[in-house]
Amino acid sequence: MILERAKRLDAERVPIERASGRVLAEPVAALVDLPPFPSSAMDGYALRAADTVDVPVRLPVVARIAAGQPAARPLAAGEAMGISTGGSVPDGADAVVPLELVDESGDEIELRDPVQAGAHVRWRGGDVSAGETVLEPGARLGPAQVAALAAVGISEVQCAKRPRVGILVTGSELRPPGEPLGPGEIYESNGLLLATALQLAGAVPAQLGVVADEPEEHERAMERALLGFDMLVTSGGASVGPHDLVRATQAKLRVEELFWGVAVKPGKPVAFGVRRDHLVFNLPGNPVSVLVTFELFVRPAVNALLGIPEPLPDYRTGILATTVRRNPHRDEYVRATTRRTEHAVLLEPVPGQESHMIARAGRADALVAIPAGEGEVPAGEEARYISLG
Ligand code: AMP
Ligand code: MG
Repeated sequence: MILERAKRLDAERVPIERASGRVLAEPVAALVDLPPFPSSAMDGYALRAADTVDVPVRLPVVARIAAGQPAARPLAAGEAMGISTGGSVPDGADAVVPLELVDESGDEIELRDPVQAGAHVRWRGGDVSAGETVLEPGARLGPAQVAALAAVGISEVQCAKRPRVGILVTGSELRPPGEPLGPGEIYESNGLLLATALQLAGAVPAQLGVVADEPEEHERAMERALLGFDMLVTSGGASVGPHDLVRATQAKLRVEELFWGVAVKPGKPVAFGVRRDHLVFNLPGNPVSVLVTFELFVRPAVNALLGIPEPLPDYRTGILATTVRRNPHRDEYVRATTRRTEHAVLLEPVPGQESHMIARAGRADALVAIPAGEGEVPAGEEARYISLG
């Protein structure tokens, strides 16, 4: 239901030096052949393989070619030219013999073994030809991708716009860290959790502040929050208590709720809705529920807005280090630490799995998916997990 509503955002031009982490919105074709000319893969001598059939043979060294400084004339039969790695192999030459394999004295080299035609030459267009597609739409631009773009002469690309996401935190008990806590108060942590997760996912988060559990405040803050963003994410107040005002307020503001409640632990009271093309997620208040529901529901939406072809959670497979009891009704996402062994990733659940235990979750780097069911999943069994790292 989320992916049906989360359509890729418009594209914008981005210079490649600011494109890291962005997602391509168009196929990109090479502007030049790569390499642009036949180039040497070694420091050595350019020559004709045919001149080395009868060995030993001595050839005069008639020029020295450096990277960026091609020879002034083609190579003639019976000649050699010194050449550096990346130097332009001259017309007439069809092979490079590495420095270590020849004896040079004066301006002559002696070869004891024949050289294969094509040896140590990187042919023009051997990596990619001009006009060929280098990257497809949906590619996320990491180090190899931005390097590939630069290497084929591209200086700007069309990328999906980064989703702008408003974060609205609810709860009269919440105080910012750095201030003393009053009676019944706790420190607010969900806003920063979401801002960090959204930023790392490629979105542009905006923290819109904390709203007290009061109808008028909710209405005012949510009306403002629904404008100007591609997505709104709220925390808290989405359950069934007398102070849970988020859903009722949104209904008043004409947000169409598409679902409320998922068979997931932690995170059951998640809601998802839309107002025009704004996506709205109501996440629970407990911080670990926010962590889990972000990965399961919000990140896929961000991925889809960015045009990533596989937006759903990236599950990996590991081995449970300890036995885990299943929940009969809900899929459970167990916080765990990963430990790499030679053959597998071992998943060790952290002690303390309640949904308010964010300090414990802070030591975990994986969410292990334990499907709903009877009994337990024994230690040593394979389990799917989402990396938090
Ligand atoms: P709620 O869904 O609003 O009933 O909140 C559920 C639990 O999460 C309560 O114990 C809240 O105090 C706690 N909580 C709600 N919002 C936050 C927040 N932003 N940071 C930390 N804890 C929160
Ligand atoms: Mg609350």
